[in-house]
Amino acid sequence: MQSFDLNTLAILAIGLAVGGVLVMIAVLIQWSLRKARPAPQKPSQAPEIAKAPPLPEAEIYEEAVALPPAPEPVRAESAPAAKVVEPSAEPEAAAPPEAQPEAIEPEAIQPQAAAPPKAPVRIGIGLRKTRENFLARIRAAITGSKKVDEIYEGLEEALIAADVGVDASMKIVEAVRGKLGSDSRPEVIRNALKAEIAKILDSAHREPACPAEGPLVVMMVGVNGVGKTTTVAKLAARFKAERGPVIVAAADTFRAAAIEQLQVWCDRAGVEMVRQSQGSDPAAVAFDAVKAAVARKAGVVLVDTAGRLQTKVNLMEELKKIARVIGRELPGAPHETWLVLDANTGQNALSQAKLFGDSVPLTGVVLAKLDSTAKGGVVIAIAEKLKVPVRFVGLGEGLDDLREFDAREFVEGLFEGEGENASGSYAA
Ligand code: GDP
Ligand code: GDP
Ligand code: MG
Repeated sequence: MQSFDLNTLAILAIGLAVGGVLVMIAVLIQWSLRKARPAPQKPSQAPEIAKAPPLPEAEIYEEAVALPPAPEPVRAESAPAAKVVEPSAEPEAAAPPEAQPEAIEPEAIQPQAAAPPKAPVRIGIGLRKTRENFLARIRAAITGSKKVDEIYEGLEEALIAADVGVDASMKIVEAVRGKLGSDSRPEVIRNALKAEIAKILDSAHREPACPAEGPLVVMMVGVNGVGKTTTVAKLAARFKAERGPVIVAAADTFRAAAIEQLQVWCDRAGVEMVRQSQGSDPAAVAFDAVKAAVARKAGVVLVDTAGRLQTKVNLMEELKKIARVIGRELPGAPHETWLVLDANTGQNALSQAKLFGDSVPLTGVVLAKLDSTAKGGVVIAIAEKLKVPVRFVGLGEGLDDLREFDAREFVEGLFEGEGENASGSYAA
């Protein structure tokens, strides 16, 4: 009995040992095979995005700066019924943690210096993606023999999908319906739609500041990566031509790279930049710039600010302080405070506007990257909700890629091409 048990145990033990060795050999073979294979090709996204360390920030700030995952695919012209539309009513909820480049290295924007000056971009071209997205849905909504109810339901969904915002979309659709009643001719609806959109954009209009004497001081604010620095450069080039010498304040002192990046841009634009070392008080930099501008009778001061600090509270206090300190040196300054928004952000732009607007009175919006988004409809939501005018739109990464925003032109750009071939594609 005993010896039988011992024998069995010994055989079992040997069996287990041999099994174990076999498993290990199998694992080793697997592993070496895997090593031998080339590493899977990483998608060629900007590598610095991956490097950006997630900074702990106050919750509301996180929420406002969170960007949606990726530019949404532009729908084919022949998008079917507008029913597919997902109303983007949950703006920030599902957004991933901020994935914006922490540092835009100066190399990244190195000279196209030798490039010949190109003709300014037409807003219609910058709106291409938005238009394709928007028009396909509008067309689907208003063509075909549909009931009036269906048409307006489809229109509302089309507007919401173009990031016009739920409230503004409802407002537009109600107004058009109230005006037209049961007239469902596509071109009539389309014209009424244009008129309502233009009306909302006009409602946010206000005259730009024009100080009686001394320089115009414009402070640029916005979260990290939206395009502030690029916009400052574009504006500097533009104002230099329109209003004389421009002085730029490098008040994003948070990163040395930010100051260097701005310096490259200012050299390119041929304007003076006032700077101090990294980590210095941004208010002091802005103060120096305003003082220099007054002394030298410059036409404009543009203040580039930081978009990210350790906490939302710090950033907002810093912005308030910049405004306070330059206001002390030059009463009335800053005359304008423009929020720079990344047009890709869609409805999240409204949270950002609220966040900044609570700290510094915003007098305008610059919508950057309109060229790279299908969400340009957010312009309408901004006008409707914030009653702050869009001053400029960014349509590319070059110095010239900035257009003054014009409501008519925007609306025409949005519907560009629809008039001419309407008879073909609008057989109602
Ligand atoms: P900041 O962090 O707000 O100062 O943003 P930057 O000015 O550094 O810009 C961030 C990135 O957005 C850069 O790669 C810019 O080239 C890019 N960018 C800025 N404006 C535009 C625009 O109007 N169109 C496009 N396509 N890219 C832009
Ligand atoms: P507050 O108490 O926060 O309102 O601001 P302060 O009056 O203490 O000034 C804050 C910062 O602004 C200072 O640390 C300076 O860097 C800058 N600042 C204020 N006044 C001047 C000034 O006359 N010259 C310069 N260069 N910087 C100033
Ligand atoms: Mg910047």
